[in-house]
Amino acid sequence: MEHKRTYCKVCMTSCGLIAEVANDEKILKVKADPDHPITQGYSCPKGRATGQIHHLDHAITRPMMRKDGELVEVSWDEALDDIGTRLRTVIDEHGPDSVGMYFGSGLGLDSAGYSMEEAFYKALGTPPKFTPLTNDTTAKVMIAGAMAKFYGINPKTDYDNCQMVLYVGTNPMVSHAHNTGMFKPGNWLKAINKRGGEVWVIDPVRTETANFAKGHIAAYPGRDYAVLAWIVREILADGPLDPQQPVQNLDRLRALLADYGRAKAAEIAGVPEEQLQELLDAIRRHKILAIETGTGTGMSPGGNLTVWFAWLIMILTGSMNVEGGLWIHPGALFPFDQFVDHLPLLESAFTPGSHVRPDVKGILNDWPCAVLPQEIEQGYMHALFNFGGHLFRSFPDVHALEAALPKLDLLVSTEITHNELSPYCTHILPTKSTVERNEFTRWDTLNWSVNLQYAPALVKPMGERRSAWWVISQFMRRADLPVPNHVPQEHSDENDELMQASLLATARCSWEELKEKRVVEFPMDLPAAWVDRLFERNGGWELVPDELEAQWLQFRAEDEASLGKPKPLVYTSRRQRRKFNGQIGFLGEIADCLIHPDTAADHRISDGQKVRVWNKSGEIVVTAKIAPSMRPGVCSIPHGHRDANVNNLTCTHDMDPLGGMAHYSAVPISIEPA
Ligand code: SF4
Repeated sequence: MEHKRTYCKVCMTSCGLIAEVANDEKILKVKADPDHPITQGYSCPKGRATGQIHHLDHAITRPMMRKDGELVEVSWDEALDDIGTRLRTVIDEHGPDSVGMYFGSGLGLDSAGYSMEEAFYKALGTPPKFTPLTNDTTAKVMIAGAMAKFYGINPKTDYDNCQMVLYVGTNPMVSHAHNTGMFKPGNWLKAINKRGGEVWVIDPVRTETANFAKGHIAAYPGRDYAVLAWIVREILADGPLDPQQPVQNLDRLRALLADYGRAKAAEIAGVPEEQLQELLDAIRRHKILAIETGTGTGMSPGGNLTVWFAWLIMILTGSMNVEGGLWIHPGALFPFDQFVDHLPLLESAFTPGSHVRPDVKGILNDWPCAVLPQEIEQGYMHALFNFGGHLFRSFPDVHALEAALPKLDLLVSTEITHNELSPYCTHILPTKSTVERNEFTRWDTLNWSVNLQYAPALVKPMGERRSAWWVISQFMRRADLPVPNHVPQEHSDENDELMQASLLATARCSWEELKEKRVVEFPMDLPAAWVDRLFERNGGWELVPDELEAQWLQFRAEDEASLGKPKPLVYTSRRQRRKFNGQIGFLGEIADCLIHPDTAADHRISDGQKVRVWNKSGEIVVTAKIAPSMRPGVCSIPHGHRDANVNNLTCTHDMDPLGGMAHYSAVPISIEPA
């Protein structure tokens, strides 16, 4: 038995781990690495379940292909030849645009595999592309593009020095913060309080994070932007107003919010007026602050507005690119500071929509995941490649998917275990899992410091699993698609390394240094001169992007028309500590429904009872958990469960016209005892 050091690939916190491994095959136990220079002995149950994830039942270890209606194991050559032939036929008969691709998170973490996905996408001439961006949090990337003309602007809290942090629809005590990678989140929050700072939370649930907070505002889901909009107005009127970078359209913003009074904002958000004033007073006490938003708000209809107003508060108070406020990740693989004069500035943050919903704009050329079923049904899409995505637990409206997927001529999925998609696949290709390959942290800008990590494989590949880059390049070659010259023909450990090393061409350290040191941290300036230089080039923060202004006016009109009327019962989505999206169901988290005692009484529901939750899209049955921590009139339901899949309650038609995010939170529901 050997002890092997690695890092966790479940979430972007990338905690250092030590695995007990037998015979290069069996992962016996996984624990936190106390000597890891960044995460310092922290891990959570999900990371410690790395061995169980690897040894799950229903592992796929040989390529599979559908013959006479049955999925059967075949050789790699047979599977790849068949895919190549059928892909070529689809391209010749319907054009390359009839091939869709889902860049799932599974292969997104495979650095070499992901680069080959991109090569496949380009070889087809950039056909319809779907990514988790439109079923996660489109707003953050959108707002960066709209306000900074550069999607790479990624502000992060300066946790070493911050005095005030406001969390909106995010619970880092459970999720570790989507964009920050907070290991030991409780220690970070305690440290803020210990140095005299303040934590604030806006969330319909009094979350684990709210237990550290001085103030908690339980806003109605999807309307938290009303609180922030009023704060922006007050900052514009009486400060603290001190932007650190140039700004554009300050007067236009002032006019837009001039008559947005506190009473109206409080009623729209469904909270007492005094709480808005207390939050504003806290901001005025500390002058600068960081605001972190998460999926709780980003997946709701008002998500764009919430993130926009959050950034406006941080920009106007001068919190961006200053100590104690926000730092902007400069990139480790691609250092923005070294290329700042060449970073591409966007004409528009939005890209064209799909065939079936041209009215819905995209981000980064993504099409909304919500349009996939209709693209198939209306005959635009004939083949789909799913690269490590869990379609049924992440795309909206399960029933629409079930109806559309059988109509595809070719549905290829790279996967290591069977899931709900298997019955629809024409081919399943088992690629090396996260513990079966050498890997490094390609998505470095989602980490909490400027660093790169490398870890060798923990175990040898099960059965005949192969590297994803090789698998994709092979069916491309067999379909007569151009493969980049540097991509080897043969599958070998040496070629895996060659593929990965090629990705470090612009990185802050060499492949050799990364392999030797395993963790390389880089110094970071705060304030950073490159950020100011970027805002010289782009003319300053665009405070009022046209599209956001139009959306604000529309929402505001709807909100004002609803004043004085009761707010419908809605559900909000929630992460669980011992589960990650559609994964890790085996740790025992159940599909529960947090519900306030008064709301439960109104619906004759008792604790532990099975509850039927339904709306126009479908229904699920979950277990009631009476929780005084909930806002009345709101149910909190976790996502990612197979037998109580909350995507039965979502709809392919209800999506954000800016970016295409389906509405996964703040969705109206009805409930009753099951
Ligand atoms: S927080 Fe948990 S899931 Fe995320 S990297 Fe660390 S151990 Fe893994």
